[in-house]
Amino acid sequence: MQGLNALTGAFHASCALVYTALLMGTLKPLPATLTVCAILATTWACSSPARRQLRHQAAPETAAGLMARRQLLEENRARVYPGWARAESLHFILLTPPDSPIAADPDTFLARREAAYQRIVEALKVEPDGPIRIYAYRSSRQGEKLLGRPLAFALPAEKEIHVRWDQEPGHEEAHVVAWYWNLSGSGEPFLEEGLAVALSSHPGSPQASAADLLARGVLPDLGDLIAHFSRYRNGYVLAGSFVALLLERHDEDLLRQLYTGGPEDLAERLEDATGQTLAQLQTWWETSLAAQEPVTREPILEALALLRLGEAKAAIGVLEKQRLTVPAHPVLEFALAQALRQDNDEAGSALAFRRLLAMPLPYNLAWMKQRAREALNEMGHAEKVP
Ligand SMILES: [Zn+2]
Repeated sequence: MQGLNALTGAFHASCALVYTALLMGTLKPLPATLTVCAILATTWACSSPARRQLRHQAAPETAAGLMARRQLLEENRARVYPGWARAESLHFILLTPPDSPIAADPDTFLARREAAYQRIVEALKVEPDGPIRIYAYRSSRQGEKLLGRPLAFALPAEKEIHVRWDQEPGHEEAHVVAWYWNLSGSGEPFLEEGLAVALSSHPGSPQASAADLLARGVLPDLGDLIAHFSRYRNGYVLAGSFVALLLERHDEDLLRQLYTGGPEDLAERLEDATGQTLAQLQTWWETSLAAQEPVTREPILEALALLRLGEAKAAIGVLEKQRLTVPAHPVLEFALAQALRQDNDEAGSALAFRRLLAMPLPYNLAWMKQRAREALNEMGHAEKVP
């Protein structure tokens, strides 16, 4: 379904630009919302299940429509080409219009793209079967004028990327590379955009934005986000946050499995592939984000300093106050359990350790569970440990 990929590719990357602009602070939230809405309304009329169905069944009239669109795009691309400069690197063919800001030094541009490509290919363990053509337009307006559609986007089947010259590398490359897992994509925008955001070279971290939403109590329900991805203003960043955490699990086959097989419904596919329920995954997501929450570090360091001075009660006060704003933070719970224990409140300490044991921890904090079990053993609470 190459035509379909062309259609969805356009959507993918035009939103990526909005996401980039949001992160860089060049776009205010309201215009951003309106832009996303406009893009959604014009380029993404089908729901995800409908798109999956299209991918598999390709209703004739729709396929014809898509073919016509593709034809138009190809004609436009042919019109673009004359007069453009061409440069090559190992995995890219770069095409730049006359007066391009990168025409004088295409090698630097390509080196950054190559670095992103290496990172993506290593992460996904798959590679396209030839070079990717990058059409690097002078401006969004130029791209839209020449192509008749907004930048930026990837055409994975054609191994093409259409971007403004200064767009961060990584996002569109990730769309192209991931497509080679099964030569058809996943049909799930949450997954595809999440992966592209997670693998973008953009300096802004999706985790910082997601952690901020968590701290404000507005991190959405994972199931709803997956099912209604297009309705979320922060959909790209949130999907990027979740998929980046999946990538950090270092389970090479997990993302590939999610992309290429299993039940039709992505939520079910996630549950199958991870062995966790959606509710457990939600908690895992929130806990992982909370563990990255910088707001919590200061009070924990203060409490640890107080504990070293033997001021257990003062430390407990600091930690309990922090728990009011960040209720499910494993590091906080761990420190509180230690402080309560030092204050000889074994029942309170055991309770905090048990709360910690009930949390699905990010892999880098898994050692805390072992320590909690040891402490509960020493305090004689081992029989109640889950
Ligand atoms: Zn995209």
